[in-house]
Amino acid sequence: MPAYDVLVIGSGASGLAAALSAERSGARVALATKGSIQSCNSAKAQGGIQAAFGDDDSPEQHAEDVWKSSHETANMELVTVLTSEAPSAIHWLEELGVEFTRENGGYRLARCGGATRKRLLQVGDRTGHAITKALRDAVEASTVTVLPNSPLRGLDEGWKATVGEHEVEASTVILAAGGRCFKEAEVRGELSTNHPGATGEVTQIALDAGAEARDLDALQYHPNGGSWPQNMQGYSIPETTRAYGAVLLNADGEEFTDSLGPRDVVAQAIVDEVAKGKGVQTPDGRPAVYLDTTRIAREDAEISLPYMLRRYRSAGVDPLAEKILTYPVLHYQNGGLVIDTDAKTTLDGVYACGEIAGGTHGRNRMMGNSLLECVVFGRRAGRAAATAARQ
Ligand SMILES: Cc1cc2nc3c(=O)[nH]c(=O)nc-3n(C[C@H](O)[C@H](O)[C@H](O)COP(=O)(O)OP(=O)(O)OC[C@H]3O[C@@H](n4cnc5c(N)ncnc54)[C@H](O)[C@@H]3O)c2cc1C
Repeated sequence: MPAYDVLVIGSGASGLAAALSAERSGARVALATKGSIQSCNSAKAQGGIQAAFGDDDSPEQHAEDVWKSSHETANMELVTVLTSEAPSAIHWLEELGVEFTRENGGYRLARCGGATRKRLLQVGDRTGHAITKALRDAVEASTVTVLPNSPLRGLDEGWKATVGEHEVEASTVILAAGGRCFKEAEVRGELSTNHPGATGEVTQIALDAGAEARDLDALQYHPNGGSWPQNMQGYSIPETTRAYGAVLLNADGEEFTDSLGPRDVVAQAIVDEVAKGKGVQTPDGRPAVYLDTTRIAREDAEISLPYMLRRYRSAGVDPLAEKILTYPVLHYQNGGLVIDTDAKTTLDGVYACGEIAGGTHGRNRMMGNSLLECVVFGRRAGRAAATAARQ
């Protein structure tokens, strides 16, 4: 009998949600992660998490927005699960201690790119930090065995995993190791918003074991990477700046695109504007356009963008007093391992959730749906893997 029922790979939001859910379903769970348990992309997420709570909104409307933003490439079975379970995922996070920003007796909701309604919940602009901290605290208080500094190196059928110095046997495995945009940016000689652990080798291990993937070529550029000052290069300026009124301007001060369009459309519009010679240059010669953040109301900025303000002000720029410079930057792996609605891959006993999985966003993810995917499919993966391990 294997030592564990469920082995989870990765300690981002999806891995933590999966481990916790598997443990709460009665499984003996181990979680192995590449670096420290804190190290992940999820903790860097600032903007927020989508869920249809507005009076004029519904899970169906949310699903419709995903479908359109994905340019009709998303798997609608997965999308229906994502949007219909979003409100309960939020309540689950609240039970774990996440305090979403509130106003007028309800959640403070922002409209993100590609959305037809205000649907983005926030915890100031440290949403990912708050969510991962609550999940981590719960995992650390549980019976889950955590193996830090234990990167997955090999997976043999059965399942026997080599994680760092350990050999771990488990009935089922949940792959939650995130995307590959840090590595991809290095190869391309570009900037990335990602943490250094986002290198994609776990996807390759799954592919080598025979798993199917989809849309792996579809990488997302965040429209608003920081371009200047130098120490803000690669910083992802939260999309909520645009939700709260910031607009993109060319060198002549003209708006050249809908600043709240789908991510790929906005990123392409910036690249095209610069190619037309209507961009500006940073002092170190990089291409950029302006993001006019002076249009954000001070109160909105103080409630929903305090971290962004602090970062820029300590770099010597006040975004409420002057426009900032921005250019698209490599950000997110849209595609990934094929999963079903239980987050099961095409390999028996192997599950995948979070950025490593494909289908939920098709070829273009909307902002705020990745953290949501981590929680919704992390929980589903944990429960399903625990159940399968008992059979
Ligand atoms: C700067 C930034 C801002 C963002 N803002 C938002 C936002 O506002 N809203 C939103 O919804 N999404 C946002 N995203 C996207 C979202 O945060 C991520 O896509 C999502 O959190 C990924 O979660 P994950 O659990 O799949 O992967 P991650 O959080 O990246 O975690 C992957 C884990 O796997 C581990 N790992 C990697 N390789 C191995 C290996 N070989 N063996 C063992 N462990 C391994 C890593 O160390 C890490 O612990 C943002 C992303 C970034 C980078």
